[in-house]
Amino acid sequence: MTTSKTPTDQPRTPTRPAKPAARRISAHKAPAVQSLQNHLTFSSGKTSTSATERDWYAATANTIRDHVIERWVKTVDAYREQDPKRVYYLSLEFLIGRMMSNAALNLGIAPEIRDGLTKLGHSLEEVVEKENDAALGNGGLGRLAACFLDSMATMDIPGTGYGIRYEYGMFRQTIEGGQQIENPDNWLRYGNIWEFQRPEHTYDVKFFGRVVECVESHGTEYHWVDTEHVVAMAYDVPIPGYGTETVNNLRLWSAKAAREFDLGHFNDGNYEKAVELRNDSETISRVLYPNDASASGRELRLKQQYFFVSASVQDLLRRFLCEHKDWNLLPEKVAIQLNDTHPAIAVAEMMYQLVDVHKLKWDYAWGLVVKVFAYTNHTLMPEALETWSVELFGRLLPRHLGIIFRINHQFLQMVNHHFPGDTDLLSRVSIIDETHGRRVRMAHLAVVGSHTVNGVAALHSELLKTTLFADFNRIYPGKLVNVTNGITPRRWLNQCNPGLTQLISSALGDGFQKDLSKLSSLEPLAEDADFRNAFRAVKLANKQRLATRIEKLTGVKLNPNSLFDVQIKRIHEYKRQLLNVLHVITLYNRIRSGQVKDSTPRVVIFGGKAAPGYWMAKQIIRLINDVAALVNDDPAVGDKLKVVFYPNYEVSAAELLFPGSDLSEQISTAGTEASGTGNMKMALNGALTIGTLDGANVEIKEEVGDDNIFIFGLTTPEVAATKAAGYNPWDYYHGNAELKQVLDMIGNGFFSVDEPDRYRAILDTLLQKGDHYLLLADYASYVATQDAVGALYKDQDEWTRRAVLNVARMAKFSSDRTIAEYASNIWKVKPVQR
Ligand SMILES: *Cc1c(COP(=O)(O)O)cnc(C)c1O
Repeated sequence: MTTSKTPTDQPRTPTRPAKPAARRISAHKAPAVQSLQNHLTFSSGKTSTSATERDWYAATANTIRDHVIERWVKTVDAYREQDPKRVYYLSLEFLIGRMMSNAALNLGIAPEIRDGLTKLGHSLEEVVEKENDAALGNGGLGRLAACFLDSMATMDIPGTGYGIRYEYGMFRQTIEGGQQIENPDNWLRYGNIWEFQRPEHTYDVKFFGRVVECVESHGTEYHWVDTEHVVAMAYDVPIPGYGTETVNNLRLWSAKAAREFDLGHFNDGNYEKAVELRNDSETISRVLYPNDASASGRELRLKQQYFFVSASVQDLLRRFLCEHKDWNLLPEKVAIQLNDTHPAIAVAEMMYQLVDVHKLKWDYAWGLVVKVFAYTNHTLMPEALETWSVELFGRLLPRHLGIIFRINHQFLQMVNHHFPGDTDLLSRVSIIDETHGRRVRMAHLAVVGSHTVNGVAALHSELLKTTLFADFNRIYPGKLVNVTNGITPRRWLNQCNPGLTQLISSALGDGFQKDLSKLSSLEPLAEDADFRNAFRAVKLANKQRLATRIEKLTGVKLNPNSLFDVQIKRIHEYKRQLLNVLHVITLYNRIRSGQVKDSTPRVVIFGGKAAPGYWMAKQIIRLINDVAALVNDDPAVGDKLKVVFYPNYEVSAAELLFPGSDLSEQISTAGTEASGTGNMKMALNGALTIGTLDGANVEIKEEVGDDNIFIFGLTTPEVAATKAAGYNPWDYYHGNAELKQVLDMIGNGFFSVDEPDRYRAILDTLLQKGDHYLLLADYASYVATQDAVGALYKDQDEWTRRAVLNVARMAKFSSDRTIAEYASNIWKVKPVQR
């Protein structure tokens, strides 16, 4: 048996002598104060007189990191000794947020760190603010990957994340003149204490070139030649589990030039040109594409996908071959999950590695591949389904295009065998779409190359079977399954809501963090007046904390006793922030006309980013801000209604917003939101939901009960029927006086007097262009349900009772449950016993 001093799994080189584990320095022997002071001096080179707040952050992070590393090293050893089956989670996005508080919480050292900082005259709350979010994702899909990492580590599942170390993550949003401005997110500017560069783990990734066929005695060999090379270098980020020794690894790839300089250019005396070429290859990992729920089709995006997939597949095969000689073992030791189609090219890359590089027979290799891969679908929306032109694909990755053609040929032969003569079926399921100018359909590649395909909520998975993948469901009965998404209760309850955590702990003891089903013991306390009062006090304090931050950010002063009505998520037409705005304007009109005597005071908070190229989404942001400016300044309105756009919605903002919410807006058109996870975070933090029967809202309703959620609007079948019957938004416009008034105000420039036509296009999408997301059809139902919400909020006791029941019934939505289902039904992996 060998041990390693550093948390890598590189086979030992003879030059590095083994050291017994017992001789390692133990980080947690030193008290926090001493450790903080040591790091301030020896890691930052500062004294307490010269130290800045950032230096104290570094000292704190380094102190916590020592504890993480100790367990990380042991986890690597345990995995090596036990040789368990491993899961590789391939994702182009990991929306992690800040790491320090989460690491301290998961390791159980938060109290002593807090204590140590206090003794040194600092506060944990202050230094935490110095950490930039790791915003390596757009929204729900990327955050899901981060929650999964937390759950895998917590459950001792040997799981590794693979992704890209973007130099610039999700853009930082500012609001100027009511409009979104995108600023670069230079998150690595001051370094990143949570990453470890691994120059010993680098792989060549090839692009372009051409394929040479060589006919040999044993068959045809293909050689991919004249390629351009980029080097992928690993950066490891430790992922500590909660209440366990396990620390897993997130391995992010950074693009480096294959050679420092092109000597040809250098010898010509063209030094600048040589350096430029180097920058070209490093562009690959420069920046995250800021699109949510839409495919970009750009060459650099395909390069990013292949870059990280190739490095990851090479890396996991190297690890497999270190310990095994028999390829038959591959499916017993390796499970790969594709987070959406972004890494789907891994199916072709694995074939390339097995057949061209390791010289396995095609059919044998394909048998292994299909046992290794599984694919998660995240959307039914056509604009989000990735396709690549055959021309671009073949230029960038000529060998992989050939591999995909062969996979497709064999697949179509199989389909034709089972459904003879159905040429329409063949053209519908083909990996190559011949009807839209020859494109590679990545979703079809992912389905064909995987043993299991899952949707992310019950409704979504049913829709997959009956619509998008109906043909595949006939071809491969049983391949399509459901795994409802979840969220980690560590970050989304314990870390973000210490008040509620303490209240729950005092009632139930600890343990719910690792076993969320324990929350069900809160149910009887919903009937306990003292508990309800305490619960309400926690919510009020969280709202106060949020109001303070909002005043600092926007200058708008809020009354924390108002109903905090919150919609935070990416700005997209299908999520219908605009429907929320229609309701806000309706309330405004009712207040101004003196119609309502004692309306419930409301604060309507929006937050979210629009893709920079998504003009309509940016118009919606601007409209929210224009409405807010008018409403918030109207003395006739006062505290009855306030409207806030919270700038730069990101994970650390979410941690403040969810605990401070009373009402959770989950109002997407039924059938469009695959799952949603913001809905789960809200309910877990004691907000009541107003929502459509969409995504996981359906299952939230099942769990909390019909009386404890506000459901409105058309169901998925009703949406389809309404469209089929020839939906005419004008009927709703003419049929509802309040709606007509609201739309007229937007269209006539009531909120944009300096530019009356500003929102003409918004009105046109609703009235002239068919209102694709059926806002007008759902308006009356939404407003009536909001009236019921307002009325219930006046009964604080009953509201709180229902909020407590929501928290008590959230067990299902722990990502621990989600990961347990993936582990047993899809990956067939077990926790490692230590
Ligand atoms: C949870 C989360 C999301 C996903 O929210 P939805 O309401 O499910 O779209 C997006 N961004 C951040 C920062 C989150 O924490």
